[in-house]
Amino acid sequence: MKKVKIRRIFHPIGQGAFYTEQFDTDEGKLSVVYDCGSLRSGVNKEAMIQTVFKSGDSIDILFISHFDTDHMNFLSDIKKLKIEIKKVVIPLLSSNPIAIKILQVLYPETPNTPDSPNGSNGTFFDNTALKTYLKQFLDKSTEIVTVNPIKKKELSDNDSKIWKSLYAKSESDYISDSNSQIKANESKEKTIESGDVITLTSKKRIDLSGFENRMEIIWKYVPYNFKSDERSKQFIKALKRAGISENCTYDDRTIKKIKKIYASIDGNLNENSMVVFSLPDKREDKFRVNNYYGYSGTNYRKCHSPGCVFMGDFDAKKNLKEGLQQLLNSYYMDKIIGVLQIPHHGSRENYNSELIKPYLFYVISFGNNNQYGHPSCESTSDILKKKGVLILITQCKLFMFTQNICQY
Ligand SMILES: [Zn+2]
Repeated sequence: MKKVKIRRIFHPIGQGAFYTEQFDTDEGKLSVVYDCGSLRSGVNKEAMIQTVFKSGDSIDILFISHFDTDHMNFLSDIKKLKIEIKKVVIPLLSSNPIAIKILQVLYPETPNTPDSPNGSNGTFFDNTALKTYLKQFLDKSTEIVTVNPIKKKELSDNDSKIWKSLYAKSESDYISDSNSQIKANESKEKTIESGDVITLTSKKRIDLSGFENRMEIIWKYVPYNFKSDERSKQFIKALKRAGISENCTYDDRTIKKIKKIYASIDGNLNENSMVVFSLPDKREDKFRVNNYYGYSGTNYRKCHSPGCVFMGDFDAKKNLKEGLQQLLNSYYMDKIIGVLQIPHHGSRENYNSELIKPYLFYVISFGNNNQYGHPSCESTSDILKKKGVLILITQCKLFMFTQNICQY
């Protein structure tokens, strides 16, 4: 088997998230993307995508952590550039029914798309509307995988399936591969549980003697969908404080008031943010990782941990329960995870100091002069205090972070 070679890039796109992993295999390139969006105004999104993909290329797996504009607004440009998405993995939405009811009054024409002229965040009330929206950017053959939220009970139970070491799983637990044969014109949709393993496999090939080689697992992805209704709660609390109830009359004045309250909440109300572990197939596989940050050619501290945790806008402050912490620690200890994307652009609301271990890389993506004040000094100074290696990614092209990962 050929050794795995990967280039992982945290792209300088300003306020947003665009992270790619490209695999060199005997049969060509395989590509995986985690989030694809940027809030930067006047930005050339196509040019950003074209730094890694060209027309006719394909993305084997695209993970969308959640449905804020800054995590998904490259979709239309990906379509325009004729880059095929083979599989898209999304979290199942969950929403507070009262918040939904009020939002439906505010925004009768659902969904309010991420490309709406005022640049506001998309507001998706239900999964059907969301999928309809997504499908306009996808091919008929694209597989849509929806990840169920972790249930409260599972979160508190350390023995539950989701926290068991992935490497103890048998091969039959793997749920899918990126190159499964998909018939044309057949839309494929499936739902999986948090903690299920999605594999990236080599393509099937026929050798000279006519035998079909078995597909080999190249890399593994494990998505976790954490229910986040914190913003809904904030919203409803704020409405109550303003004396607005669910059954009030929605005259212009009230609607104006509600809109103002809604705008004051950072991000969408009704979404979960999906965390994805990116991991080698076998725990004992050995890798060399070269890190480049800053000017080209600057080799920035070597490490040998090839895995990564992408966190999107995950609320680590409230959701980093014992189970997840243990899982993370065991990966840190076994030198599997070397880099972690700090959630929500370094906002202190989502930050948890427990994420940080000495000498590992912590990436924060944010736009220079963004209106939210991301990242918070509390997060950045805490990472440094705990001897984490802080990697700041803005729109400045000089400071992208690249990892070249080679198996040996
Ligand atoms: Zn965001």
